Amino acid sequence: MVVKIRCVVCRATVPAWPSAGRAQKVCGDECRKERNRKLARKRRQARLAEYRQDEVKRKRKQRALEKERRALTAGQEAASRQDSEQCHAPASVDKVAKGRDKVDRILDDFWQVSRARLREEIERMLLLAAAQSPAPPVRAGP
Ligand SMILES: [Zn+2]
Repeated sequence: MVVKIRCVVCRATVPAWPSAGRAQKVCGDECRKERNRKLARKRRQARLAEYRQDEVKRKRKQRALEKERRALTAGQEAASRQDSEQCHAPASVDKVAKGRDKVDRILDDFWQVSRARLREEIERMLLLAAAQSPAPPVRAGP
């Protein structure tokens, strides 16, 4: 036989779970949450001093955890920042200045020469670059 109960929260009449039977007080999850909240409120009001002490302890613990978490996060950020700073050395000021001078000289030369001269210059620079680069490996013939 199906046992029916009357929910103590919403007052609905519903069939009880077979395993609960008459011990069941509420109809579902929402009403169970509401009942638990109501019972907890009642317990807190009955022992107000204890509840306040517990709440102070809980808040202290929570603040300490939060502080620890913040310190850990800040430490990780600082460590990652330090890692990224150590990864690459800053550019050499001298090298950058020399490169800029070289580019300026090349551009000045290009602006002053005629088109035919420019082609000669480019060919000369390419030959020079090829001569400076390491020789390609010599292939052994058959
Ligand atoms: Zn209910």
